[in-house]
Amino acid sequence: MQKQFVQANTQGRLHDAREPSVSPLNRGFLYGDAIYEVWRTYRGVLFAWEEHWERLLRSADALHISLPLGPDGALGELRRTAEAYRKASGDAGELYLRLQVTRGGGSIGLDTGLADEPGYVVLVQPCPQTDPAKARSGLHLSLAADLRRNPAASLNPAWKTGNYLNNILCLREARGRGADEVVILNLEGEVTEAAVSNIAFVRSGILVTPPLAAGILGGITRGLVISTIAAAAGVAVREEPVRPADFASMEECMLLSTTKDITPVASIDDALFEVGPATVAARIKAAFGAYADARAGRSPGLGM
Ligand code: PLP
Repeated sequence: MQKQFVQANTQGRLHDAREPSVSPLNRGFLYGDAIYEVWRTYRGVLFAWEEHWERLLRSADALHISLPLGPDGALGELRRTAEAYRKASGDAGELYLRLQVTRGGGSIGLDTGLADEPGYVVLVQPCPQTDPAKARSGLHLSLAADLRRNPAASLNPAWKTGNYLNNILCLREARGRGADEVVILNLEGEVTEAAVSNIAFVRSGILVTPPLAAGILGGITRGLVISTIAAAAGVAVREEPVRPADFASMEECMLLSTTKDITPVASIDDALFEVGPATVAARIKAAFGAYADARAGRSPGLGM
């Protein structure tokens, strides 16, 4: 049962997301033949618009989908949907904005030549919040045992596609053991990422995160932490393979994503990590907050 009001915009038509809007012949529905991006606001201003748009272009290119909207059109539709959400809900808080693009519909069959034309749906809802108690005490993660991350030579995890079955099944398995989130290994037994977040560790005060070559999504949050935020927090970064046997030598662990920003991890199965105000994760989180605030102040035109 959907409790929260979600504003939808299907091909320019604004509507309550509970109303059906996409044909059952849509290839996004039938095959996950789709791509998407998620933005959030800080201080009501769209965060990292350019980085997410560029990743959407890369995903479109990889799947040979031509985008039905250019950057101005997409930004205009995100804005229109956000305005409609605020008007319908009266909610003035921070927003989650999702742009989903599918290859379109057509006769049933895998051949992409059967698709009519690409279409889009925008969804806007409140930005999800990590339970404040968990955000303080840290998340509990569990390694997926049944499935590994699909390798980059298969459905490359670097593409943000509408097909999340690999992640869904891994998360389901970890949740079945009572964990908050999952850690997924690649075929070589190296750590990749969580279901919808990148992962980083701290060893001897240095931030250590799996490289893109491990087969992960190049997260925007991860990218900003590596390029700018870790330095602002006075923390050195290393991209290097991590294996479960390395957990014992890591002092801290954290998840990185648009909606979670930097969220501390208290455990991965039996491996325990430090959490609290005196940690490297807390410093990076504070530096990330300052960066997001400053960027919101510089980009008032992206107000939603
Ligand atoms: N990894 C996966 C598989 C994801 O789906 C996401 C976000 O949805 C991330 C990592 C984090 O990426 P970002 O920081 O761009 O939100």
